[in-house]
Amino acid sequence: MKRITILGSTGSIGRNALEIAENLKSELEVIGLSTHNRVDLLFQQCLKFKPKIVCITGSDFPIDFIEKIQKLNITVLTGKDGLQELASDKEIDLLLNALVGAVGLLPTLAAIKRKTNVALANKETLVMAGEVIISAARIYGVKILPVDSEHSAIFQCLQGEDANTISRLILTASGGPFFNYTKQELKNVTLEQALNHPNWDMGDKITIDSATMMNKGLEVIEAFWLFKIPISHIEVVVHPQSIVHSFVEFVDGSIKAQLGIPHMKIPIQYTLTYPERKYLKSERMDFTSLKELTFDKPDFDKFPALALAYQAIKQGGTAPAVLNAANEIAVNKFLNKKIQFTQIVGFVKLAMEKHSIVFNPNLEDILAADIWARNFVKRVIEKEEVLEVGF
Ligand code: MG
Repeated sequence: MKRITILGSTGSIGRNALEIAENLKSELEVIGLSTHNRVDLLFQQCLKFKPKIVCITGSDFPIDFIEKIQKLNITVLTGKDGLQELASDKEIDLLLNALVGAVGLLPTLAAIKRKTNVALANKETLVMAGEVIISAARIYGVKILPVDSEHSAIFQCLQGEDANTISRLILTASGGPFFNYTKQELKNVTLEQALNHPNWDMGDKITIDSATMMNKGLEVIEAFWLFKIPISHIEVVVHPQSIVHSFVEFVDGSIKAQLGIPHMKIPIQYTLTYPERKYLKSERMDFTSLKELTFDKPDFDKFPALALAYQAIKQGGTAPAVLNAANEIAVNKFLNKKIQFTQIVGFVKLAMEKHSIVFNPNLEDILAADIWARNFVKRVIEKEEVLEVGF
């Protein structure tokens, strides 16, 4: 029996993971859960899975709610410190980190220090602090199992292979809902249009990141840290059908790809049952109904987020943490209809220009850069110092 704790159990990844846990009851035991503010759903999950500990990080819940969960004989933690305590539980065999944003970093590190393997859906952890996380994982002998579909694809292609024989990683990108838009059309994109992803059903933040292609930029950085490949050997191709989840090219020119219908359950389950594969009741691919699989060059001019991400990882130090934090704030402002779609990346660019990079950063340097970038973008937007930050 593998004991799992899920950080972010009420989000899209968390809910899928719990459905998998229910179907694999004899193999997976859920011992910890967390939510930000979706407490009613957390309560339902508690009734069904009877975890030992849960954590609520938000503050928007009825006053007697904690008591209600405690009556089920479940320990309740709160706040960001609570998340770290939850992730530090010694009984966990695998921590699934499905949190959104920079808040995922410290719990990941807490689990690694307890020698707990981590299934990582929170790509921001690696974008911000790749060096810190990967070296901690090495020191503590911990496996980081990627949940992101592209990285899971690469990880699956690498089973039985020597990672030193990789010559190229090619990440596929759906291109999002605006792949065929002109630059002018992008300026008038609405929140509703941006939230309508053609292939993947995901949370709001990642859906907006997919529309700006910042998601792919974050994934390039994530791949850089996970697979230790020079950044010049990591490429992106736009593949609107989202059937090929990524490619690995080896030194002999041979290429492996992992394919499947675009559903997050496949990569999630792979991390939960790794190194085994288990039956998953899911729609199966019918190749004869696929008309075509196409691959295009990404347009760095129309989607400058991708170029900024490459720039951030080449600059190194605290640059990727600033990219990530500025993006989180800008996306949040767009979700609250405070800024236009094209301004999201504009504010990220501005924050990167104004930031003094700290090289070889420790954790404190990274957290300080993160806070600096958040405050910087908030301040600029609130003061309306920049009405239109263009590309
Ligand atoms: Mg992905």
